[in-house]
Amino acid sequence: MSNLVAKIENWIDEVLESHCEQMVPCKPFASYFDGYFSEKFLANCFYVVAPELPKPDFPELRDAGFGSFIDDDHAGITYKNCYFIKAEQEDNLYLHLHELVHVSQWHILGAEKFIATYMDELLKYGYEDAPLEQMAKAFEYNYATQADPVNVIDALRDELT
Ligand SMILES: [Zn+2]
Repeated sequence: MSNLVAKIENWIDEVLESHCEQMVPCKPFASYFDGYFSEKFLANCFYVVAPELPKPDFPELRDAGFGSFIDDDHAGITYKNCYFIKAEQEDNLYLHLHELVHVSQWHILGAEKFIATYMDELLKYGYEDAPLEQMAKAFEYNYATQADPVNVIDALRDELT
C-alpha cells in the first residue's frame, strides 16, 4: 500500500506542476470566509478550473476497488494546497469552502497520511460517508446556514490529531 501511496503522491506532484500556470489564488475569498480561514492560510491555497478533474487512473487502483471513485463525476477534487473544479462551479462558494476544508486536511495530516486515510475511508465507508468528506460537508452546512464561523484549521486539528 505504501508504494501505491508514494506513486499517487508523485502523480499529484506532476499534475500540480503541469497546471501551475492555471492556478488561481484563493486569497480573494478571505472576506467571504472570514472566521473560517485566515488570509495567511488562503494566501497559500489555489484552484484550477479544468474541463475534466484529474484523477490517478492506475490499473492497481482499479484492482484495489477504486474504479467507481475514478469514474464518478465529482464537483471538485483537492490535491495538497490546490483543488480542481469545473467551470460551471467557479462561482459556487460552498464548493470552494468544501475543497478548502480538504486543503486544511492535507495540511494537517500531511500528504502521505491524507492519501492513505482517504483511500481507507473510501473502501470502508464509500465516498459519501467517508469521514474526511463528512467533515467538509459539516463546514459547508455551517456556512450555508450562516451559523457562527468556525476556524477550520483549529477545529480539524482537534479532530484529526
Ligand atoms: Zn469532498
